[in-house]
Amino acid sequence: MEPCCQCLGVLLWAGVTSVVFGARLEDAQAIGFNEGPRSLHWEKELKQRGISVTREVMRPQAVEVLQSYFALICLR
Ligand SMILES: [Zn+2]
Repeated sequence: MEPCCQCLGVLLWAGVTSVVFGARLEDAQAIGFNEGPRSLHWEKELKQRGISVTREVMRPQAVEVLQSYFALICLR
């Protein structure tokens, strides 16, 4: 999943230099996750700090993982 508001803060503090994600925010929201508020320019802001962003790697498979996880946590 692309970084949520919490992930973005941790990425900066932890010194992460690259981010790779599969699913998009709208994928997670369509499943039922609430990721909270986030800057519309988050990707540009990371790149300005030297953090590379690789988008939508194996997106359909990533969505399947999110769907499985959501189903699992909703059963508890
Ligand atoms: Zn997050």
